[in-house]
Amino acid sequence: MKEFVEDRLKLKRKVLVVDDEDIQRRMLSHMLKGHYDVLTANNGEEALNEMRENQDTLSLVLLDLVMPKMDGYEVLNEMMKDDKLKSIPVIMLTSEKSAEVKSLKMGAADFVTKPYEMPEVILARISRTIQLYENNSLITATKSDPLTGLFQRDYFMSYVEIADNYAPDEERDIIILNINRFHIINEIHGRSYGDMVLSEVGMCVKRYVEEKRGVACRNNGDMFYIYVPHQENPEELLWQVHVQLEDTIEDAQTRIRMGIYSNVDKSLDVEKRFDCALLACNSVKGGYKASVAYYDKAMHEKEAYEERLIMEMDKALSEGQFVVYYQPKYAIQSGKPYLTSAEALVRWRHPELGMINPERFIAVFENNGMIHALDHYIWWKVAGQISEWKKKFGISIPVSVNVSRIDLLENNFVEDICNIVKESDIFPSEYMLEITESAYTEDSAGIISKVNELQGMGFHIEMDDFGTGYSSLNMISTLPIDVIKMDIGFVRHIHENDRDFKMVEIVMEIAKLLDVKVVAEGVELEAQHELLKKAGVDIIQGYYYSRPVPAEEFEKFIIERKELGA
Ligand code: C2E
Ligand code: CA
Ligand code: CA
Repeated sequence: MKEFVEDRLKLKRKVLVVDDEDIQRRMLSHMLKGHYDVLTANNGEEALNEMRENQDTLSLVLLDLVMPKMDGYEVLNEMMKDDKLKSIPVIMLTSEKSAEVKSLKMGAADFVTKPYEMPEVILARISRTIQLYENNSLITATKSDPLTGLFQRDYFMSYVEIADNYAPDEERDIIILNINRFHIINEIHGRSYGDMVLSEVGMCVKRYVEEKRGVACRNNGDMFYIYVPHQENPEELLWQVHVQLEDTIEDAQTRIRMGIYSNVDKSLDVEKRFDCALLACNSVKGGYKASVAYYDKAMHEKEAYEERLIMEMDKALSEGQFVVYYQPKYAIQSGKPYLTSAEALVRWRHPELGMINPERFIAVFENNGMIHALDHYIWWKVAGQISEWKKKFGISIPVSVNVSRIDLLENNFVEDICNIVKESDIFPSEYMLEITESAYTEDSAGIISKVNELQGMGFHIEMDDFGTGYSSLNMISTLPIDVIKMDIGFVRHIHENDRDFKMVEIVMEIAKLLDVKVVAEGVELEAQHELLKKAGVDIIQGYYYSRPVPAEEFEKFIIERKELGA
């Protein structure tokens, strides 16, 4: 016991001894002196003064019950009225057994009876009480978010489970609030402004859950998770938050998105239910009027469909259900357009769901990391195909493969690509890599050095979806690129408005500056083709020439090209 006491007391805490009898006060002080910083007071008023002066550092009060003028109960009473003082633990000093219950009820932590027991016992009680209070305040500190006073995520999740256990039949809703572009708000107005916004929203949420008998937490900085009994009109909260923000910070900019999962399915585990609400929340695409979305049947079906794709992906890979389609790219600036290369685009030939377009599964596989296995498979297939065509037709048709930003994060990405090309007996110059502009914005340094390495070996790098990312001119000029692939968006209306044509001219200027070629994709019409040619675009890809087609069908383009002899 003694060791334990000493261990706890390595750090000297401050203890206040309150007793009107000189001898008692001295005895206690003497007993505590070696272990604590001891303060003393000989009446209630003095005690309260000492407490207020030391409120942030005082670890414990030893409080005599019977004192003239203001007794121990009254002191305790005063302490309980004060937010700061009420968190300091009090041990009552009393000679009456009957006073114990009353003091405990009034908030005392423990009591010590006079005449004093063995010093070790008293010291142990003091030390244990301090330890208990310190641990407890630690828990409360992590339990709630200091900025908003709402729960932290883990506690919140356990409260959700507790709420379900208490009322298994009660219908519940999940509401998620997310502040639009919060990082931008922080960047523009500063962190303290951002904190103010969060705390105002937090206040509204707190009021709301108190009124509706729910619980809430703040998650990931700018999200608020709410679990409440079913509400007819949960949108009212969004309105309340906007009013609050406009009233308090005169802020017309901040917009909140709200995702609602009404009447949750309690057979789903808790995390999953919140994922559903989050899905709804993320489906909101800005705009004041449309800032609320409900998790609904369509969303549920999409989720279930994607879940199925994820489950079946491994099997599909091993059974060869993924097939590569090829779309020709034509060089258009010198005389008759001729086939210059192709882009490989994956399709999933599903035995039950039919042909599935990549738009339905690429993002899903990117999110769970499976994309790498698929791309790796496609890269091998394509390299093999290039080699096969070369042997069969005696000419080389380079093909570009799509590289997802996730692939670029793989450690052995560079070795992998080199190995594929080498094993397939083709040259790096016959293998092109399409990397979307936005891939460069994350972990740029690491990604750029890998792409640089590949370019150095002779691989052609095409910057895909150019114009949709956020790279600055400054940044682009340092990137390893051979070709810019103008996003479909530039092409779509080029024949309908002059402004889009001007945009294309700007892209051409940039390309000239960087000394790279330009591919326009998504070209469907003669009119688009004409204008792009006029603007100086080098290569055209699109339905105008052909849709993406299976390898066998693509061979007709190679034959045509051979006959042309270009
Ligand atoms: P992307 O790389 O921008 O590919 C161009 C998309 O435009 C293709 O869609 C193509 O079929 C389509 N397209 C081509 N010409 C026209 C046209 O004239 N009009 C219209 N409206 N569309 C045209 P697809 O094949 O559905 O692929 C969609 C996206 O999926 C691709 O966009 C690419 O980001 C991704 N993707 C496709 N295959 C792969 C792959 O093997 N790996 C990875 N990581 N992503 C792939
Ligand atoms: Ca592409
Ligand atoms: Ca593209």
